Amino acid sequence: MNFAQPGRYEVSFPCRNPWCLDVSHPHPSCPHELLHQVLSPPYPPSVTAQRAAQHLRQLERDGRLEPVQPLDLRWLWLVPPVVVIFFLLMLF
Ligand SMILES: [Zn+2]
Repeated sequence: MNFAQPGRYEVSFPCRNPWCLDVSHPHPSCPHELLHQVLSPPYPPSVTAQRAAQHLRQLERDGRLEPVQPLDLRWLWLVPPVVVIFFLLMLF
């Protein structure tokens, strides 16, 4: 039995998704279709989205767009020693 060749009863459906790189799939729907819908904005973009993008570009041009700083999570390193101290206090 040759597993490299498609089986006699193996059916492949041609992909109709223009963004997909595969020619066909073993099922009628393209598995990349949903991913593309999630990643891409609806076409055409709404007036609100256009205004928001325009506003962001204006803020970026003016230099008023402040970079987002990551949260300071260094205090998380204190959690394991605090748990150990808490259990030691419960023992004695
Ligand atoms: Zn596809």
